[in-house]
Amino acid sequence: ESLIAGIRPERLEKLRAREAKRFATGRPRARAALDQGAEAFLDGVPLHWMKDWPMPHLPLISKAKGARITDIDGYEIDDFCLGDTGSMFGHSPAPVAKAIRHQAARGLTYMLPSEDTLDAGRLLTERFGDFRWQIATTATDANRFAIRVARAITGRTKILVFNGCYHGTVDDAMVELANGITQNRQGLMGQVADLTLGAVACEFNDLAGVEAALAKGDVAAILTEPVMTNSCMVLPDPGFHDGLRALSQKYGALLMIDETHTISSGLGGYTGVHGLQPDIFVVGKCVAGGMPTAVWGLSHETAARYAAANEARAPGHSGMGTTLSANPMQFACLKATLSEVMTAKNYGHMEKLADRLSAGLAKSITRHKAPWHVVRVGARVEFICAPGPLHSGTEAALAHQPAVESALHVALLNRGCLIAPFHNMMLISPATKKRQVDRLIAAFDEILSELF
Ligand code: PMP
Repeated sequence: ESLIAGIRPERLEKLRAREAKRFATGRPRARAALDQGAEAFLDGVPLHWMKDWPMPHLPLISKAKGARITDIDGYEIDDFCLGDTGSMFGHSPAPVAKAIRHQAARGLTYMLPSEDTLDAGRLLTERFGDFRWQIATTATDANRFAIRVARAITGRTKILVFNGCYHGTVDDAMVELANGITQNRQGLMGQVADLTLGAVACEFNDLAGVEAALAKGDVAAILTEPVMTNSCMVLPDPGFHDGLRALSQKYGALLMIDETHTISSGLGGYTGVHGLQPDIFVVGKCVAGGMPTAVWGLSHETAARYAAANEARAPGHSGMGTTLSANPMQFACLKATLSEVMTAKNYGHMEKLADRLSAGLAKSITRHKAPWHVVRVGARVEFICAPGPLHSGTEAALAHQPAVESALHVALLNRGCLIAPFHNMMLISPATKKRQVDRLIAAFDEILSELF
């Protein structure tokens, strides 16, 4: 009989069926409300990603505060998904909620700066480094605009990305490797362009592959996360980031670091903690405490090259920016988050509890002799239902165990713990309590006791 991630299939099926039933029978209000009100939305959901949750149907949320989320059937759930990083610093952090209330009486969008704008600029530099900043509304947009800058100032066409990466719904990065050849991602909807004209994929941790791609002379920028977080997490090998920096300089490509998820690493993100030296720095999602905001920043040298490119540009639209970006509500929330929420003290708490969670899960995995492992990047913890460590996007894709993961996620939710649907990711916020972490470890261990 073949095992699934070390589990006998009939045991997994028994757990899956029982937990799905338990979820559904326990949420009659959500079921009835959805039956009456979901049809206005395409396929019944306001964002099709919500179809990726593994429950028989969605819960409807009535409230979220700190690390707690409450649904209309009355369940109070420990939230380790935290909006898939958008609320990594907890739901409605008090300083951000206060800033929203204050700004709500002063206008929501002007296309003009406020005094908070200037404070936020100073705080961005203080927190992330001496970059020249622009504000966008999503990390997707921040990456898209930064990619244009890279192409404009180098005059080159290609962006080098890593196989299995995700940088938002940025078409320029939507390529993958198939037998060593870059191709459009298979799942893309309605994409008629040949994306390989503007992108090349390499494997993460493969500096020789990166050098071979750069040597062709057509790469404008390397775009990478410091850690691959969007598949099963892949840590950089020692020397990988130094290698990327050196190779990008040798071949005249820019280095773009996307910190959107690795901001979990600590103050200043992975870049700050590990002293990376990107030419372009991007961070989104939680940077304004959950208010839709992203930032991209250029190093001084890159900013000077951008200014020169702008001087040479014909009049007309640059293809960058969106109308609601850099609005005063974003600045109020950026300022509150950077000065009062994204603090060393809060990171200390997050780090400590994330370490506790990661150790607890690893201990359970060892005790049950599961062929699994745990990875942690600061406040971001992930269990992976395959042996590790993983070294590349290809290995990470093979490590996914969708049947196991979905059954486990529903079973955890039935025990009061919500984790992210796209991966086995758990975030610790400044509001997360030790007892919530211990409850998650106990729930995980109980489920593994049944599966193994
Ligand atoms: N960059 C990275 C590394 C991400 O993980 C994501 C989203 N998961 C994005 C960019 C895009 O963020 P958004 O969906 O908010 O545009």
